[in-house]
Amino acid sequence: MRDATPTDLQAIIEDIHAELAPRFGEGKVADYIPQLAHVDPQRFGLAVVTLDGQTHLAGDAEMPFSIQSISKALVLTLALGRYGEAIWKRVGREPSGSAFNSIVQLEHEHGIPRNPFINAGAIVVTDALLAGHTPREAIAEVVRFVRFLADDEDILVDKAVARSEEATGDRNRALAHFMHSFGTLRHPVEHVLGVYFHHCALAMSCRQLARAGLFLAANGRHPLTGGSVVSAARARRINALMLTCGHYDGSGDFAYRVGLPGKSGVGGGILAIAPGRASIAVWSPGLNANGNSALGSVALERLAQRTGWSVFGS
Ligand code: GLN
Repeated sequence: MRDATPTDLQAIIEDIHAELAPRFGEGKVADYIPQLAHVDPQRFGLAVVTLDGQTHLAGDAEMPFSIQSISKALVLTLALGRYGEAIWKRVGREPSGSAFNSIVQLEHEHGIPRNPFINAGAIVVTDALLAGHTPREAIAEVVRFVRFLADDEDILVDKAVARSEEATGDRNRALAHFMHSFGTLRHPVEHVLGVYFHHCALAMSCRQLARAGLFLAANGRHPLTGGSVVSAARARRINALMLTCGHYDGSGDFAYRVGLPGKSGVGGGILAIAPGRASIAVWSPGLNANGNSALGSVALERLAQRTGWSVFGS
């Protein structure tokens, strides 16, 4: 298959947007974080940024939404930069096959979470980022890093979403206390969760998110600023984790249907990476049973089909 030209790409994403319009609102908006339940389920945004920085947008691609667990890929990148491979002593790299907020494996596995993309794993990564910092400093470091990745100083944490999750985060508190009892967490649970809730509450548009993920498509380089974010080997490994763990117990299905590394969030966003080609962000708030954007994965499936982008062959 020949590579899609910029004109093709724009037409492809506009087509996908138009085709899916009658289905906008499908799935169920997350309501266990009350603030997320206020989001209009009819929203749909799609952004594709190619390695040369060309940006293609469709629908609500400029409207910020709550990135939620997509932040787990970004904070993992930050923690890998600080600790290197030593982070893997504290969190595993295997798909969990269970829900994002599941507690069952933790007892069997002595408080070491399966991977950094389920809640327990991201809470451990967040704990690592707190070393030597106050919670406020750790949040500021994450925000600075995400702004640097997207080359966009306007990115903010939605404080109302962070407070809303703080007020209702019993499940995450249970996970964190349980891990604290094993010594997996080194900082007070409320400090760790404070930082975790804030990075989950980052508000970004599809355009900003696709830009922030571009280094993963570009062998760790930062095409927008010319610098380097991570080594090529590390970018490949983060992509491998996104492919195997980025959609929780829906990861196999996402790999089968889309064939690209992806990280989802309960805000309805998905960041997907076409290595060597593009970074893609989609947003549709309605979720499927695994807590992944229902229409978002359909949109990515169609995009992958029409561009021929896949990590499994061309
Ligand atoms: N902040 C959410 C939580 O901890 C993130 C979950 C998600 O996006 N899957 O429950």
